[in-house]
Amino acid sequence: MNIFAAFIIVLLVMNVNDAIRNYLAVAGVRSLDLKAALIDMDGVLYDSMRNHTTAWYRMATEMGIGCCRDEFYLYEGMTGAATIDILFNRAYGHPATPDEARELYARKAKYFTELGAPVMMPGAGRMLATLRDSGICRVLVTGSGQQSVLDRLDRDYPGIFLPGKRVTAHNVTHGKPHPEPYLRGMEMAGCTATECMVIENAPLGVQAGKAAGCFTVAVTTGPIPRERLEESGADLVYGSMPEFAEALPQLLDALRSITVE
Ligand code: CA
Repeated sequence: MNIFAAFIIVLLVMNVNDAIRNYLAVAGVRSLDLKAALIDMDGVLYDSMRNHTTAWYRMATEMGIGCCRDEFYLYEGMTGAATIDILFNRAYGHPATPDEARELYARKAKYFTELGAPVMMPGAGRMLATLRDSGICRVLVTGSGQQSVLDRLDRDYPGIFLPGKRVTAHNVTHGKPHPEPYLRGMEMAGCTATECMVIENAPLGVQAGKAAGCFTVAVTTGPIPRERLEESGADLVYGSMPEFAEALPQLLDALRSITVE
């Protein structure tokens, strides 16, 4: 290893340690007792956001609602109904009725399914295996109700998300950035906020994880820049899922060992 590479590694370790100490100071606890990882799905376990934004764009433009495809990256984590309300409020000045929201979300879900099976995120399997092998409870926390993706989880990531350890659009009232999805995830894990780590890729998801009081890691896996995730309050931001998977064993060690007075 050359001196430059060693210097970068020292900087990264300092960054991780500082992030953990900052989190502990704000949370008012001496140490983290990490027991569970609360893990988002789209953009974390699946490289599916391009297809989601394409499906939303198709549905909205067919409705005659002006929009741009990339805006849907910023709504990532909301429930489908909340995204439809943004479109309706902008176009018509009022939210959608429950029947309209149901019908339009079904149409968006159909268009998404037509785009083919979601691609597993490179590095996600390694990340999940590290969590499992470290004895960390895994809970899925997604705003999605897209059954075509949820149905694939057991096949693509066998044994990772046990029964009763999945929060989806079907069991929350509020989507992200509301903390409810992560609070439900904490309940399912049987853990408090300072016993959990959130793994996210989107600004609203990061806000939800922080609002729930958890140490929140963001991974950039799409066009949303690192700065947006930092502004949303992420404790740490990694540049890709393979980079996060590589760094995870050391991060777990640090999360379990760092104590403040
Ligand atoms: Ca996501």
